[in-house]
Parts: sequence; C-alpha cells; structure tokens
Amino acid sequence: MTTIGPGRPTPPIELGGDGAASTTAHFVSSTIGLNAEFIRDLEATGAHVSVDPATLSESSRDWWPLAMTWAADNQVGSLAAAVVQPTTVEQVSTILRLCNASGIPVTPAAGRSGVVGGSVPLFGGVILDMCALTGIRSVDQESGIVDVWAGTFGDLMEAELRSAHGLTVGHWPQSVSLSTIGGWLACRGAGQLSNRYGKIEDIVVGLDIVLADGTFVQTGGHARQAAGPDLNQLFVGSEGTLGVITAARLRAWNIPEGEARSAWSFPSFEEGADACRRIVQRGLAPAALRLYDAAEANRSYGTGDVAVLLVFDEGDPVVVDAAAQITEQECAGTIRLDDALVEKWLGHRNDVSALEALISKGFVVDTMELTVSWTDLPNLYVTVRDAIASVPGVLAASAHLSHSYSDGACLYFTFAGKPSENNAIATDALYTACWDAGARAGLECDGSLSHHHGIGINRARFMAEALGDGGTQALHAIKAALDPTGVLNPGKLGLPNPYGPAPFPVTSGADQ
Ligand SMILES: Cc1cc2nc3c(=O)[nH]c(=O)nc-3n(C[C@H](O)[C@H](O)[C@H](O)COP(=O)(O)OP(=O)(O)OC[C@H]3O[C@@H](n4cnc5c(N)ncnc54)[C@H](O)[C@@H]3O)c2cc1C
Repeated sequence: MTTIGPGRPTPPIELGGDGAASTTAHFVSSTIGLNAEFIRDLEATGAHVSVDPATLSESSRDWWPLAMTWAADNQVGSLAAAVVQPTTVEQVSTILRLCNASGIPVTPAAGRSGVVGGSVPLFGGVILDMCALTGIRSVDQESGIVDVWAGTFGDLMEAELRSAHGLTVGHWPQSVSLSTIGGWLACRGAGQLSNRYGKIEDIVVGLDIVLADGTFVQTGGHARQAAGPDLNQLFVGSEGTLGVITAARLRAWNIPEGEARSAWSFPSFEEGADACRRIVQRGLAPAALRLYDAAEANRSYGTGDVAVLLVFDEGDPVVVDAAAQITEQECAGTIRLDDALVEKWLGHRNDVSALEALISKGFVVDTMELTVSWTDLPNLYVTVRDAIASVPGVLAASAHLSHSYSDGACLYFTFAGKPSENNAIATDALYTACWDAGARAGLECDGSLSHHHGIGINRARFMAEALGDGGTQALHAIKAALDPTGVLNPGKLGLPNPYGPAPFPVTSGADQ
C-alpha cells in the first residue's frame, strides 16, 4: 500500500507572485463569465458554489507540465468564473441543465492530476468539482464488484476496500493519491500492475453518467452482454466531453497472497522488449514488466550501458509461481540482477516530486506514452526518441516499456530540455516543438496517440491525424448527439466547440 494522500487535489507547484488571489490567464481566449442571477441559480441547487479568486485559480489548473512552468509568473491556462461542488447526482443534473440552457461551459474536474490540461476551463464558465461525491457505495463480495462514487480518491478507495473487505481493484497509477475513480475512467488510465488487473477499461463493469441536458444514464452492469455496442466504452476516455461520470462499478479481487520479483539486464532495449513479448504471448505475464533503456536504467539504478527489466508480480501463489517460471525461461541466457532493484522501484513508484523539482530549475520536462505493435516497436522506439532528441534545446530523451499486451506494448518516453531564453515564449516554443516532433513521429511509425494520459488540450491538435477522416467524423457526430450545445469541456479531445478557436498551441504572432 502507498501512503494515504489528503483526499483532495494536490497543487502541482506553488503559484508565484502575490499568490492565487491575483493569478492571471496565460491563454488569450474569450472566456464566459456568470451574472449574479446565474450564480444564485447555481446556489439554489444546493451545491457549494465558490467565486473566491484563490479557489478559482487553484481549481483552474492541473498537472500539465507546460502549465506548471507558468506558475512562477502566477499564471494558469484559463480561469473559471465559478467552482461548483455537487454532493448529489440530482445536483449534478440540475447544474448541467442550467448550464446547457444558458450555453455556459462546464469543465468536470476531480483530482486535477491530469497531465494534458484536461480539466483546465479553457473558455471559463463553471468548473464542476466532483470531489464531494466520494466514498464506496456498496461491495458485492461474492461477485467481486465495488460500487464507488466517481470523486473518490484512488488511495482512499483501496485502503477501505482492503481493510473492510479484503479486496483490491489493483489499479495503481503512479498518481493513485492524486487522482479519482472518475478521472481514471474519463482519461482511460492505466495502473502500474495492469498486466494482472487490466487497464481501467478492463476493470469497469458499469457507470452512472449525467448527460449535458441533465439526463441520467446507467451503462453496463453485467460481466459481459450483447445488447448493442458497449456504452461503458463510449464514456471511458471521453474526458468529460460527453457526460459526467457520477459513480462506477469496478471489478475487485482478493488481496493477493503471492508475490515475486526479479531483475534482468539485456544488451539492448530491443532484446529486452522481445523477451517481454515472449513472456506475454505465453499467456501469463507478471503484473509489471518494466523495461528501461540504458539511459533510464543508468539514471535510476546506476546499471551502466545495458537495458534493465524489472519484474514484479502479485496474485494467487500458483499463478505467480507459474508466471515466474515463464519469466525465468524467457530471460534465460541473460544476466539476472539483484532483486533489490525492484525493491528500489517499489519504494519510489508513487513519488511525484521529480516534476516540480525540475520545472522549478527552469527545465522543460514531460512524458509521452504511446502504444505500438511488437513488430513496429523497435523502429518507433528509435524514431520517436531521436525525433525528440533532435529538437534544439533538448538535453535528454529516453524511454521505458511500461505495459505489455499480447499484440504490443506501451513505450513511455521522458524528455527534458532547457529553453534558449528563460521566458514563457521560449518555454512554450520548446515544449510545443518536442510534442510536434515526438507525437508526429509516433503516428508515422503506426503508434497510438496516447496509451493512458489522454488528449486534453495538449494533444488535441493531433486527434484528426490519429483518428483519420472517418473516425473524426464519427466522434464529432457522437459529440453533437450527446452534447448538442457543446457545453461539456469545450476545447478538449480536438472536438469542435462553440466558444472559439483552441488557444493552444500559441500560433506565431499571437500576442503573449
Ligand atoms: C506524477 C503523476 C503520475 C501519473 N501517473 C499516471 C499513471 O501511472 N497512470 C495513469 O493512467 N495516469 C497517470 N497520471 C495522470 C493522471 O493522474 C490521470 O490522468 C488520472 O486519471 C486523472 O484523474 P483526476 O481525478 O486527477 O482527473 P482530473 O485531472 O481532474 O481530470 C482529468 C480529465 O477527466 C475529466 N473528468 C474528471 N472527473 C470526471 C468525471 N467524474 N466525469 C467526467 N469527466 C471527468 C476532466 O474533465 C478531465 O478531462 C499521472 C499524473 C501525475 C501528475
């Protein structure tokens, strides 16, 4: 178990200047304000409504690394006009109905740990803070299903599930103490042990959702069904643009009794990746296979010029033992390292301090996670890494393989650079150039646009490329059908919106 967090959003970095009360918006976009009568209508729903400037600025940002660089100048992307915190589904429904009728943008936000600007209120209006819809609603011990409010923080759900029911959902993002169940679902997130428990789209059984016009919808609810398309999956990954998730049914498992660890070195990243492929394709992979390229392995573990595979497993002892045997057979012929390396990873796996430390020193840093088939993996690894590394100002680009599937894997790239000048224009330019280079190279090598962080503001400009014409048309039609006035989280996922052009990336000549 991890240390329990505060059960509310954790600010990513301190705002500079005079602090949150005098924060300004970095983006030049037309934002929608609220008149006194509308504020009174919101208050009449019974939800908590805040227009306090400090609350507005803290609630208007997330952990998007680029936006963290603006904090020293006391800037956030855009500022909301009100933060509304419902405590019931009825309140969510009334708030959405009100905003929908008046064309007020509504941006759902929860842990605000997203790293792509997803919960930033690009065009002002209302932030719908989901954090007061919290707690486990019920547990079906025999079926292994937990029904949980969407605003529940991950670590709190796990702590209660474990102590009161002897169960775990097994979804362990690095940000487990920073993020909520609704955020996991909305972003299509992945935990670090997803080889055993699945990604969030595999864990979800059913959802409660409120649509833009206030309609309540329940999706899923069965182990499997054949009643048309799977509506759970329509909303998983929709990033607050199609509906607001108020609760979810998730699969849960008995707390594992077996555990196994091992560490291995490979002469090259490609040889390590091939071992991961062979392990997974035998049908029983350990919970985590983390393969670091030489640059990352040496930085974190001082292992020199070799790729390093850390293997961690938990589950039924018989299953864990079988997976360990498969791992040993597929890694035979390479060097086994000290298991203490896995212990080191486990000790640091929820440490989120690195980002703030580097950004405070003026570095541009971020991570880019892409999925690719095993066939295309070697080419994508080298091409994306080198594309980012060749951007002027980039000091380091490296990768690890973080999640494996029978048909491919997620490569998680990390990059860092120093802008040519210490100001926001140079910082934005370097950051944008890194993403243009890396995301485009990934798509050209048949990679996905994202594996688990999602799209938000940051990747919106690549969506049409990633989905193709037909896919883009289909997604736009779904948006138009479910949210015809376009009030839900406008400016995200590359969807059309009625409020104006996306203010990011800043086009040359824009007045910053
Ligand atoms: C240090 C660090 C490590 C991370 N590690 C991981 C990781 O290992 N795996 C991973 O998957 N992610 C990781 N993330 C990213 C982030 O934690 C996830 O995207 C997380 O799922 C976001 O949840 P949240 O509650 O913070 O959502 P927010 O950031 O508040 O919102 C994210 C998006 O979801 C929407 N949303 C939130 N709640 C709802 C709701 N109830 N209904 C509809 N839409 C909603 C928002 O509108 C927004 O578009 C990491 C982030 C950080 C900062």
